[in-house]
Amino acid sequence: MSHLMNTYSRIPVAFARGEGVWVWDEAGKRYLDALAGIAVNTLGHGHPKLTRAIAEQSLRLIHASNLYRIAEQETLAEKLAAISGMENAFFCNSGCEANEAAIKLARLYGHGRGVESPAIVVMDRAFHGRTLATLSATGNRKVQAGFEPLVSGFVRVPLNDLEAVRHVAEHNKNVVAVFIEPIQGEGGINVSRLDYLRGLKELCDRHQWLFISDEVQCGLGRTGKWFVYQHAGFLPDVVPLAKGLGSGMPVGACVVGGRAKGVFKPGNHGSTFGGNPLAMTAVVTTLDTIKRDGLLANAARVGSLILDSLKHQIGRANGVVEIRGMGLMIGVELAQPCGELVKNALDAGLVINVTADNVIRLLPPLVMNEAEGREVVNRLVPLVRAFLDKRAAA
Ligand code: PLP
Repeated sequence: MSHLMNTYSRIPVAFARGEGVWVWDEAGKRYLDALAGIAVNTLGHGHPKLTRAIAEQSLRLIHASNLYRIAEQETLAEKLAAISGMENAFFCNSGCEANEAAIKLARLYGHGRGVESPAIVVMDRAFHGRTLATLSATGNRKVQAGFEPLVSGFVRVPLNDLEAVRHVAEHNKNVVAVFIEPIQGEGGINVSRLDYLRGLKELCDRHQWLFISDEVQCGLGRTGKWFVYQHAGFLPDVVPLAKGLGSGMPVGACVVGGRAKGVFKPGNHGSTFGGNPLAMTAVVTTLDTIKRDGLLANAARVGSLILDSLKHQIGRANGVVEIRGMGLMIGVELAQPCGELVKNALDAGLVINVTADNVIRLLPPLVMNEAEGREVVNRLVPLVRAFLDKRAAA
């Protein structure tokens, strides 16, 4: 009998070690990793620069309280400001915490403007985390069911529908922020149109709302630029980050600029573990390696190769609804639930995920090269074809 709490439907495979884009299970079977721990292992597995940096920092100092100055935080905040165009960073340990900070900040911002009951515009099918506030912001009933009463103050609209947000602006004077995953990950790789993002930004500027870009999953180079908002060519006010930030080290950040600068004051927010020197070192090494090794351009190149090859080979197949994505964030939407493909892929030595029931999700490490990208396609396409043939025959 397991003494683990029963919170996951786990697949009975245990990974024991990894190197680059490859992982091995306990029995020694090798798999090509096209998931990276759900967008976490940015530099792949066992990256020598990262493992060395973590080992060396652990010998110097692992934790120091935020009661004191932490030099590694200052170094990292400067680097994050340089790549994001933002100004200040708050460090935490996960995506939901980064989003929780963003929600608190938006409320405080609203109160500062005299709004007694601040509201935040959120999107259908978004995923923002599993704390009470972030699951309330999440646009998926499955995540919320059983945890009512939900946190109030969220107004939900469909993604890519600017008219819906204009309508909210006209009728709800309590709105203080728009909170959006510019590419929805858990929701099925739903990509915001760039003109829609620009339109949202204009609305935010017109009404003095905060633009909060949840880049926990889609940010940090995955789409070929550091952040998705950079494809649209503007600066948001708040950017929650986590997942790929530390290449596997648990760490999150809430990065702010614009109207969000200076909203939090001492005592408004905090975290015991947030910004510890070990996590900061992992992030600094991750960012430096992305830059030095040209991994943004690599993500764009290898991502296009995978996307184009998939479109070419199965894009018109009966049962394939759409193949979409940006850089190394790719979804293949099928006409029917396809969760069984995760197990079939493992049997074929490939790690993938299925989300929103019918979307195959690929989130490979940013170090994946072109040959490995081709191999992902070579392993995945026959599995999709076999699945579709079986369903057609049934
Ligand atoms: N935001 C987005 C866009 C996510 O994809 C996730 C996790 O999947 C989260 C927030 C929550 O992150 P965490 O699981 O680290 O709390």
